[in-house]
Amino acid sequence: MAHAGIETARLDAEVLLGHALGLTREEIVLAGDLRLLPEQVRRFNEILLRRLRREPVSYILGRQEFWSLDFEVAPGVLIPRPETERLVEIALELAQNLTQDKSIRILDIGTGSGAIAVSLAKELPASMIWATDVSGAALKISGSNARRNGVADRIQFLHGDLFAPVDEVAGRFDLIVSNPPYIRSAEIDNLAPEVSRWEPRGALDGGVDGLAFYRRIASQAFRYLAPHGAVALEIGADMDKEVANIFAEVANYADVRVYRDYADRDRVIVARNRSKGV
Ligand code: SAH
Repeated sequence: MAHAGIETARLDAEVLLGHALGLTREEIVLAGDLRLLPEQVRRFNEILLRRLRREPVSYILGRQEFWSLDFEVAPGVLIPRPETERLVEIALELAQNLTQDKSIRILDIGTGSGAIAVSLAKELPASMIWATDVSGAALKISGSNARRNGVADRIQFLHGDLFAPVDEVAGRFDLIVSNPPYIRSAEIDNLAPEVSRWEPRGALDGGVDGLAFYRRIASQAFRYLAPHGAVALEIGADMDKEVANIFAEVANYADVRVYRDYADRDRVIVARNRSKGV
């Protein structure tokens, strides 16, 4: 795999061999001299061929860990990224400040695998969460991830464009979170083949300048926010000023703030509803 340009060839091979044999990577490394049965060789070869076609390891395994929880993934959904855990962390801080002990209402837009919604539901036992996506494939997998993690009774998954599916939901949200598509359309083909060839374009493509979803979300979110509510969005590493400007231009927000991730890149923007007490 190394000569195919796969940088994590050794690690991938160990993980995938483990997958083929039903062992963990640690067990593979410790086993040293492994003898494979013909059926195991066949299974491993099949898996290696998939990887050589640059299918992401997470799709081959059908699994990805996020927030120390186990998520099912398949080519119909974005593989949840570690950077997005920063958004979960900030959402939890906001949740604590917004609602002392009372139940909190959260909306997750573009839920994908359900990574954000399920993690928040797990951490906030008194929360009620609504999660939307335009992708039917994503909604199937996110529902299954909510059940797998024991939070299906507190998350409603709804199909449709941005806020449209919650138009009929009574009451406003304390917190709106989203990790929307934010790759500039022309840049998608320059990404690693694991991303550009395998992950759903509808989960990546943020329009010509990558900002299309921030404009749409900023122009609508305040209508759905409780008076004290806040919106927290993941952003691309170079998008802090542009997205902050988008929110600053809509008169309905206050306290726009950008947070960095652990690699010191701008990663999350938070804006509060200005109409406090209205
Ligand atoms: N929240 C997940 C997935 C993020 S990818 C995570 O952080 O891992 C962005 C998601 O937004 C995709 O699942 C995509 O299907 C969804 N999406 C794209 N356009 C949308 C729209 N107009 N309305 C709702 N969801 C949309």
